[in-house]
Amino acid sequence: MKDWNLEKAKELYGLSTWGNGYFDVNEKGNVIVAPYGPQNEHVDLLELTEDLQERGIRCPMLIRFPDIIKERIRLINTCFQKAMESMDYKGTYQGVYPIKVNQQKHLIDEVVRVGNEFHLGLECGSKPELLVVLAKTEDPQALILCNGFKDQEYIETAILSRKLGKNTIVVVERLEELDLIIKACKKFDAKPKIGLRAKLQSKASGRWVDSGGARSKFGLTTSEIFRAFEILKKENIVDCLDLIHFHIGSQIPNIKTIKNSLKEGAQVYSELCRLGANPTYLDVGGGLGVDYDGSSSTDSSVNYSVQEYANDVVSIIQGVCEEKSVRTPNIVTEAGRALVAHHSLLIFDVLGLNKVEKVDAPPAVDKNEHKVLLELKYIYETLDVQNVNEYFHDLMDLHENSLQLFTFGLLSLAEKAKIEQYFWSIATRMLDLTRGEDDHVDLYEELKILLSDTYFCNFSVFQSLPDSWAVGHMFPVIPIHRLNEKPEQEATLVDLTCDSDGKIAKFIDVETGEAQNTLSVHPFIKDKPYYLGVFLVGAYQEILGDLHNLFGDTDAVHVSINEQGYTVDDVVEGDTVGEVLSYVQYNLEELVQQVRRAAEGSILEGQMTKAEARTLMRYYQEGLAGYTYLEEPEA
Ligand SMILES: *Cc1c(COP(=O)(O)O)cnc(C)c1O
Repeated sequence: MKDWNLEKAKELYGLSTWGNGYFDVNEKGNVIVAPYGPQNEHVDLLELTEDLQERGIRCPMLIRFPDIIKERIRLINTCFQKAMESMDYKGTYQGVYPIKVNQQKHLIDEVVRVGNEFHLGLECGSKPELLVVLAKTEDPQALILCNGFKDQEYIETAILSRKLGKNTIVVVERLEELDLIIKACKKFDAKPKIGLRAKLQSKASGRWVDSGGARSKFGLTTSEIFRAFEILKKENIVDCLDLIHFHIGSQIPNIKTIKNSLKEGAQVYSELCRLGANPTYLDVGGGLGVDYDGSSSTDSSVNYSVQEYANDVVSIIQGVCEEKSVRTPNIVTEAGRALVAHHSLLIFDVLGLNKVEKVDAPPAVDKNEHKVLLELKYIYETLDVQNVNEYFHDLMDLHENSLQLFTFGLLSLAEKAKIEQYFWSIATRMLDLTRGEDDHVDLYEELKILLSDTYFCNFSVFQSLPDSWAVGHMFPVIPIHRLNEKPEQEATLVDLTCDSDGKIAKFIDVETGEAQNTLSVHPFIKDKPYYLGVFLVGAYQEILGDLHNLFGDTDAVHVSINEQGYTVDDVVEGDTVGEVLSYVQYNLEELVQQVRRAAEGSILEGQMTKAEARTLMRYYQEGLAGYTYLEEPEA
């Protein structure tokens, strides 16, 4: 294929943009995962997928690469170090990972392990998260930040943890929490570290903006901050105020928004300093975005790099502090998405497809047949590049009219069938005529969608890509193999659920930066596996996923990459059918009993043989122990 090569494949699927160097293509046409860049150790994703299947891990599968987390943590830390050195910043940088982004035990273990070197801390936003964080942090320098709405128990647990030698800071989100904190201090004779979360007026842009602005759920308004400070003074514990915090939302696409909020937040910090406070930390929250589509222009993308982000954070804080002649704080970020989004990907197989009926030669029509058919025949015979636009509209009108005629009983089923065949063969010819024609770009796109296939895929959007369904977030989706072959087919992807929303119908068009409705794929070959990968799914997707249609957690594996190739470190088996059923309160024994009783009844009535009943019971019990997704039949 002369007009196709690996470079073209990388361009088409945007690998070189959103891939960030972590993903590339090898000469076999397979995607590779390269945490340290394609020149260093990497793994062939197709080989890995097949190898994992041999070990009994099933599609759909989530593959996590802890090496990528390590690289992300290192990246953000080096960017801040560089920024601080070049600006001669007096103060340090410390990251905190908000565990709500992905709380899976194995992932938290990794984050803590590789974050140790950088004193990376953990942030919790609820009581259950607090209990995780208290157990998992070991480094006495790493911060534990307690956010979210709090009751007395939450606050007392957090304050007592200081006596375990933990570096816990309770961040006040509502003024009432300050009273609870003061009470707890008296009760335990403790000196807590207190943070104040400011509700900024600067509003974010992008998809997740409601964490900021005057009407946001969290944080203290300017007058509340002022009141809080008065209370601290009255209680004689101003020295407990250790951190000022703000967070304006997740996945901020535009650096300008970030800069505006930083200016406002740094003013809050320095004004408090001028009032006599001396907080060690200024915590600028999360929001550091991930480039999911390579466009630098949509809400799924970013128009800045991590280095640019670090430079702006450091220089703006430094600028404001110099202006106000106050001490520069140690800087804390709560980047979550930016640390873990890249590290995991979902692999699923295509089960089959629904093709529109592409008929090369339409059926014969004689002159006594229905007028609609005669008109279609005329279009078919006189269609050319000059009239294709006009004829396209005629074709769509005729198609709609034929439906009305059929509904009123004025068309026979045979006539309707012929009309359908004409419709698809004309549309197919129109697609051929407009391909590569500059004057017909829009029409070509419309036809491509009209004639696209539907690929049935072995996964659930609701379980594995909830943000794709809920907020139209775009994730890169690409075939993980056959990339040396030109993908000439357009397809939409539908999942296993019986829900019309269970699909991916928005893909990245790297050239225009806009969403398109279909994905370029390779022809599906029966009995040959065709694997698609959804990338950058490490943040938020796992925990937001739900059990729609009772599709449960997928199998998940941790793969680390080394000089010998790779090792499979952890396997977390997905939900069994039985587990999923017990989540919705079914008692498995009772279910088995009920079916067994029905089978016994059928044996008595002579409807079923004993052998059939035995087979049915075996399937039933194996089904309960099995995967919720479709499985290959046992050989
Ligand atoms: C969710 C959240 C974060 C993480 O935001 P990202 O955009 O994932 O970096 C940080 N801080 C707070 C307070 C949050 O609620």
